[in-house]
Amino acid sequence: MQRRKFLQNISLVTAAAALPTITNAETANRKKSFTTAFISDIHIKPSEIAEAGMKKALQHINQLKQQPDFIINGGDTIMDALAADKEKTKKQWDLFNKIMQSENKLPVKHCIGNHDIWGWQLKEDVKSDPLYGKAWWLQQTGYTKTYYSFTQNNWHFIVLDSVQENKGGYIALLDDEQFSWLEKELEANKEKFICIVSHIPIISFCSAMFFKDMLPNGDWKLSRALLHTDARKIKDLFKKYPNIKTCLSGHIHLQDEVNYLGIKYYCNGAVSGNWWGGAFQDFAPAYALLDFYSNGTVDRKMVEY
Ligand SMILES: [Zn+2]
Repeated sequence: MQRRKFLQNISLVTAAAALPTITNAETANRKKSFTTAFISDIHIKPSEIAEAGMKKALQHINQLKQQPDFIINGGDTIMDALAADKEKTKKQWDLFNKIMQSENKLPVKHCIGNHDIWGWQLKEDVKSDPLYGKAWWLQQTGYTKTYYSFTQNNWHFIVLDSVQENKGGYIALLDDEQFSWLEKELEANKEKFICIVSHIPIISFCSAMFFKDMLPNGDWKLSRALLHTDARKIKDLFKKYPNIKTCLSGHIHLQDEVNYLGIKYYCNGAVSGNWWGGAFQDFAPAYALLDFYSNGTVDRKMVEY
């Protein structure tokens, strides 16, 4: 079905371990449990192109013959709140809510992105404002914490907060409190398959492709803002739980699929493509459709809407 609409994705298979592969028999006998549309990096802002684009993406998802059971919003919902004043930030959230209300009927689960955080890079001091930092995103979503979990059929979803303040900028990692919460979540849900959602990828190849150049000495240029800096610590934790099957992320605006130690890490592009300026590098504006199966397998298709 509409094959040309689906992008070809990079598939990296590590030579480090003998990875479990899905045999044809397993694929043939498996039963689809539910479907999710993963939209990420919408970066909505008052502009004709952005507003029309967000509407088109939501209409596309809502008009699918096989409707997804729910949407995951991978974060960077608005263009930017980090360095935007209160009025500008409010305008972006109002616009997001208006378009969601008019164009989407499906339930949505939100993950926080760096650009959804208010005032960390604003010259004006707004620290005493009750909406400062992640509070505005919490008010928007109605959540009480920036990380949480939920269960769908025999799958347990753990939605993380990748973004921590770092010297006027941000760094991709889980703070200690969140990491211990994650440990407890995994321990309490061994009977279910696990899907982890984080705005910034935990393991990804496209994070290294983000910058076009290498460093002067030939090393890869890879920033602390583009890949979880605690990836090794998280990978070691994940090794204890073979029921963790997939990790979903956005942030990079590029797409990849990395199979590392038996877990499929999908970085899912951006609804806004190049921040509403067309394709970013090789990737046009897109969202992901993910089929979750009752045997713990997942299929992803990227859709250019
Ligand atoms: Zn981001």
